[in-house]
Amino acid sequence: MPRFAYDLHIHSCLSPCGDALMTPPNIVNMAYIKGLDIIAVTDHNSARNVRAVMRAAEALPLTVIPGIEVTTAEEIHAVCLFPDADSAEKAGEELEKHLPPVKNRPEYFGEQIIMDENEEVTGTFPLLLPNALDVSIDALQALIGSFGGFCYPAHIDRSSNSIIAVFGEVPPEPEFASLEVHDPQRFFENVENSRYREGFNIVTSSDAHRLQDISEREHFLELREPSFDCLRGALCSRLL
Ligand SMILES: [Zn+2]
Ligand SMILES: [Zn+2]
Repeated sequence: MPRFAYDLHIHSCLSPCGDALMTPPNIVNMAYIKGLDIIAVTDHNSARNVRAVMRAAEALPLTVIPGIEVTTAEEIHAVCLFPDADSAEKAGEELEKHLPPVKNRPEYFGEQIIMDENEEVTGTFPLLLPNALDVSIDALQALIGSFGGFCYPAHIDRSSNSIIAVFGEVPPEPEFASLEVHDPQRFFENVENSRYREGFNIVTSSDAHRLQDISEREHFLELREPSFDCLRGALCSRLL
């Protein structure tokens, strides 16, 4: 089966912590220059820039998967991926309703810029996006599934906003088939963690907030073709 270079966790300028240069054309051009085949744009709790990033990539040999990085009620980050822009946007609209009513303070947290594929600013998002939603990690899977998507825990090796930081381990329920590990070399040096090699697909993405942090051609998935369906097939099945 062919191998495709991926980076499935990239923030745009919609995320307050995302650099202003993370515009839709800049993201796809940098991904193309770095030789990636498949990327996902995953802003915090919103999908308002996914369509623009997908459109910006139309002329490139690059697949853009629309995504969202959700902050659950437990403050766990999860990467959620969707089959198309419509389903991601509908899921995003639903998730935004679960945000606490806390306004963004751009001077403190950064701008949350909504943009089209030509870098035309079409708006800003008023509420602070990375805040925890009132959706538990247990409820998240079903919610994302109802929009045709799937999800898995993000950067489980980080000391904050990760499922291990919150629960002390990856609990058996809710069951995930994939785990994102930011630094697998370091993480698996700890023999305690070797159990996560068994049964899970380990995904390593950049979590880029700046252009230069987008992954090089270094992480690969074996897929029939670089599509959402093939990605779901690979990342939603448990390894035995
Ligand atoms: Zn995160
Ligand atoms: Zn992130």
